[in-house]
Amino acid sequence: MQDTIKQQLTQVQISPSFTRVKILEFLKDTRHHPTVDDIYQRLVDELPTLSKTTVYNVLNLFEEKQLVKSLIFDKAITRYELIVDQHAHFQCKDCGQVFDVPKPQVIYPPLQAGFTVVEDDVLLKGLCPDCSQK
Ligand SMILES: [Zn+2]
Ligand SMILES: [Zn+2]
Repeated sequence: MQDTIKQQLTQVQISPSFTRVKILEFLKDTRHHPTVDDIYQRLVDELPTLSKTTVYNVLNLFEEKQLVKSLIFDKAITRYELIVDQHAHFQCKDCGQVFDVPKPQVIYPPLQAGFTVVEDDVLLKGLCPDCSQK
């Protein structure tokens, strides 16, 4: 697994330091849209010299190279995920968790002249299965 990750980093001209490999590996393992804090908490035991700034800088670099996408669902909280497939997001209004859900097929009407769409993120809101049962 780590070799594939190293290759993936090298392909986009990122030198595969241990920290970068670990962060990318963690992102591959999760679909929970972690924040910088989440990633830091999960990796600090294994990487005692890690700082939140480092995590942030690595994520910025990954984003520049289009490996990850930053997502802002809540004010001032940025979450990250690997760019793997097209999906929509569903945020639970009760517990705040964000889930990956299939992207709806939407046909957009033509926009006013002069607008160019580069992203069409979809965010649905509602209750997740756990909170629906409460
Ligand atoms: Zn919920
Ligand atoms: Zn997602």
